[in-house]
Amino acid sequence: MLYRKMPNSETPLSVLGYGCMRLPTTAAGAIDKPKAKAQLRYAIDHGLNYLDTAYIYHMGASERFLGEHVLTDGYREKVQIATKLPCMLITKKEQIQKYFDKQLERLYTDRIDFYLLHALNGSLWARMKALGIVEFMNEIRKNGQISHMGFSFHGPLDEFKAICDDYPWDFTQVQYNLLDEHFQAGAEGIDYAAGKGMGVVIMEPLRGGILVGKLPKTVQEIWEKATIQRSPADWALRWIWNNPNVTVVLSGMNEDAHILENLNTASTSAPDSLTPQELAIIDEVKAEYGNLLQVGCTGGRYCMPCPIGINIPAAFHALNSLSLFGNVMALYDYAVETGFNQNPAWTNQCIGCGACEKACPQHIEIRKEFVKVRRQLENPIIKGLVAIIRLFWTGTQRVQKKLQK
Ligand code: SF4
Repeated sequence: MLYRKMPNSETPLSVLGYGCMRLPTTAAGAIDKPKAKAQLRYAIDHGLNYLDTAYIYHMGASERFLGEHVLTDGYREKVQIATKLPCMLITKKEQIQKYFDKQLERLYTDRIDFYLLHALNGSLWARMKALGIVEFMNEIRKNGQISHMGFSFHGPLDEFKAICDDYPWDFTQVQYNLLDEHFQAGAEGIDYAAGKGMGVVIMEPLRGGILVGKLPKTVQEIWEKATIQRSPADWALRWIWNNPNVTVVLSGMNEDAHILENLNTASTSAPDSLTPQELAIIDEVKAEYGNLLQVGCTGGRYCMPCPIGINIPAAFHALNSLSLFGNVMALYDYAVETGFNQNPAWTNQCIGCGACEKACPQHIEIRKEFVKVRRQLENPIIKGLVAIIRLFWTGTQRVQKKLQK
């Protein structure tokens, strides 16, 4: 494992951080605790020392899971904990202290090493300032409950710079990957923050999984031209670590093979280590993805739940799969995802409340993008398939209930 330090901190941080937003789950959707615990501790035992969570991850269960199951038996002392204040839920000053106390309680700790205001943009920062967040941050820093203060960000570059300028932050967390080099804060934002002496933590390095797994044929062909053969995840992570202003890259790992691979990449990815030839291959891949993707959804599910029951991330995932791979399985997957929804709904049932767009950190014009979903996914065959799935599902549930009696 390689380590880097934030410019204003003496704490060595593993270049690979563990993102605890996408831990492995059971069929019922709860965190698969034995599996997640084994995976996290394996990574820690192999040198990873930065765990990133948030109040809202796994519907509030991520922090408590870490506190109760991972950070016991001496593991608290082996790691740096990063977690985030849920600014999006805060409307009154007194809630700030309450959320913070709850986070300490959930994590079974009396200090948080890296504390962030979650998902800031210009207007949310203004609202938090009006609620007294600056005084609060100064206080928890002074009394030692927080070692490093930062913010995660989803918004335009000018707002990012303004927030960087508005408080003596220790670090920031931004989205950065092969497809988002100039999106939101992007490369310019990273350089700006580093220029002010801030550490930089990267989220969504694999763009919600789009950059790995099954690849579009044209992208695969570009990677195969490279003189050094690497996996797509290895290329994508290595490209980020090539940037000397990046301190930690978070990966939401939930498969053993991914953890092994990422740990391996993290042990050899030094700053400025990619050759001009390697960077040229990467540029080709970036351009090809730009041609293929229809919607910039990363599957973070901030937009959910939709009050009508539209499965927004599933719709966009299917739309991108369709254009990336050109196969009909994307349609089938969308039908299955929709059919097994508790209250399935189609995009033409959208009432236009806009709640999803307000919550989307990617600022996707969701209602506008639904036109593509209707045109390409929601045809009579798919609706018929969903009707069959629903009949089968409700029938199975009835049989199960009878058997339970
Ligand atoms: S705008 Fe439409 S899709 Fe978005 S939350 Fe409201 S009903 Fe759901």
